[in-house]
Amino acid sequence: MIELLNVTKQYGNGTTALSNINIKIDKGDFVFLVGPSGAGKSTFIKMLLKEVDPTEGKIIIDGVEATTLSRRKVPQLRRKMGVVFQDFRLLSNKTVYENVAFAMEIIEAHPKEIRRQVPMILSMVGLSEKSKMYPEQLSGGEQQRVSIARAIVNNPAVLIADEPTGNLDPETAWEIMKLIKQINRRGTTVVMATHAKEIVDVMQQRVIALEQGRVVRDDRKGVYGYED
Ligand code: ADP
Ligand code: ADP
Repeated sequence: MIELLNVTKQYGNGTTALSNINIKIDKGDFVFLVGPSGAGKSTFIKMLLKEVDPTEGKIIIDGVEATTLSRRKVPQLRRKMGVVFQDFRLLSNKTVYENVAFAMEIIEAHPKEIRRQVPMILSMVGLSEKSKMYPEQLSGGEQQRVSIARAIVNNPAVLIADEPTGNLDPETAWEIMKLIKQINRRGTTVVMATHAKEIVDVMQQRVIALEQGRVVRDDRKGVYGYED
């Protein structure tokens, strides 16, 4: 599903953010990406999304070599991935329904398909009753649910989550984790960067640990493994 082959990323100022990374993530995997600040987690995620390109090596996503892809085909690649951020990034002037529908409008989905799919996804994330509300009228956990709905509404192969529980209280964070796990159980590959030690330790999923741009650990049923 996702393969990184000898991937190195050196930024223009000479900083080596990732150094000779080799990782294979299979379809349906659930991967926690952990490591201290500056370890290279954001760079890793940005490379999957082709927001930055590696200076060396190859990245293959769902059979497509991202590294040599023409600019014209980048949107097609990004469609394979749904992204969720710590700060939700919802459109404040659109309702819950409109935020989710917008993700389908961008890919020019048929209006009939949008009217069918959006209520189904909102029901799945438990927000059917709130579809006419605006983001600022929702709790943090509800806003993150909207952002997850938006990320999965086009059926991506991969859900990428960058600190999705970072702005949430522990109880709400667990609800969001259950939702992400539920999406994973339906077959979506999940890659989640996080500092949430307790969540990583309890969930017992694959843990890839980065330090100074290198993979220092890659364990099935792993733990967080260091103190923040
Ligand atoms: P993390 O997400 O784990 O905190 P990052 O991927 O943000 O790590 O950063 C990895 C390294 O790359 C750090 O040393 C950081 O300072 C550096 N870095 C990140 N982005 C840039 C950039 N745009 N230009 C130069 N250096 C960068
Ligand atoms: P399952 O895979 O059995 O359906 P869930 O999706 O409900 O489990 O939860 C995933 C993991 O998170 C489980 O290991 C569960 O024990 C743990 N978990 C769920 N809610 C909480 C909570 N509020 N506090 C601590 N751990 C929790």
